[in-house]
Amino acid sequence: MRIDKIETYSTPHLCVVRITTEDGLSGIGQTAPDFTDITCRIVHRQLAPLVLGMDAGQIEEISDRCIESTYKFYGSYICRAAAGIDTALWDLKAKRAGKGVAQLLGSTASSVDVYGSSMDKTITPKLEADRMKALMQDKGFRAFKLHIGKGIGKNLDMYPGRTEEVVSLVRQALGSDSELYVDSKGAYDVNRAIELGRLFEQLDIGFFEEPCPFWQMEKSAEVARTLSIPVAGGEQDFCLAQWGRIIEQRALSIAQPDILSIGGLTRALRVARMAEKAGLYCTPHNSTHSLLQVFSIHMYAALANAYPFLEISIDQEYLDPWTKNFFYPAVEVKDGKVKVPREPVGSASQPGLARQGTL
Ligand SMILES: [Mg+2]
Repeated sequence: MRIDKIETYSTPHLCVVRITTEDGLSGIGQTAPDFTDITCRIVHRQLAPLVLGMDAGQIEEISDRCIESTYKFYGSYICRAAAGIDTALWDLKAKRAGKGVAQLLGSTASSVDVYGSSMDKTITPKLEADRMKALMQDKGFRAFKLHIGKGIGKNLDMYPGRTEEVVSLVRQALGSDSELYVDSKGAYDVNRAIELGRLFEQLDIGFFEEPCPFWQMEKSAEVARTLSIPVAGGEQDFCLAQWGRIIEQRALSIAQPDILSIGGLTRALRVARMAEKAGLYCTPHNSTHSLLQVFSIHMYAALANAYPFLEISIDQEYLDPWTKNFFYPAVEVKDGKVKVPREPVGSASQPGLARQGTL
């Protein structure tokens, strides 16, 4: 069915893309969050002219066209914008089939296991341990991730010793039956990452995410070769060729593509398949309470090489209020699991979203 209309609706942080085909059916997608005035402009100026009139069912071809036809601009913003179109097309395809996207991808799972991801590096180690213990009891979480370090590649911390303190305290508080992961967002050089990694090995940390700046994959590869705990990463990496090199060099053993940063579900699934071929796990990066959650649950549910847990943020109330009540039904964690939606994505409530443009 021919693509007739591409519309964007946004707040400063969120941009919903609606694609309508000639028969009037619409799909809802989302671009990567933040600076959405820029991303919307790219959707309408650079991508919509390439996509309008194409067959909405040709999602792979449309994904490639968005990237290949703009190759002189290949980068984060093109991929952020392309993700809005790609995810809307997946929603549209699911609507047309009367299924959820996960089902469309062959999944029969009704729920998936999630780990609680703390984004807060300002919380005291004691409060962090307390809230994670409470979440274990109230919501059945069996795995958590802490964010550690500060800045990129400078070996800094929120205060000297915080990382050692918070990881040790939370590990002890959660007990040995639960999983604990750490994410430094590229805070360290190789020596410091290995030094901390030795402590993480002793504390039975399940994976060390982004030990070094993501653009220095050789350094992450060295850390991965040296430590016995798995290295995870990839949430910023949008280039599929770079993903090939990352996987070939074993700079990580758990691939975490971000559906909205990489250019959509189509491209994130390609990374998952590359990882699968190399015998590596995949679990999509899923850090916000935006529609990224919904797309990530659909993708994760359909992976053959899914890591045992999918990320879910535990910080909605005070760290990303811009996503509050963004869509219904809200994703809820019960017994450490979230339901895999049986419906298409398109129930975004779009509160306060201003129309940005139509082409
Ligand atoms: Mg991360």
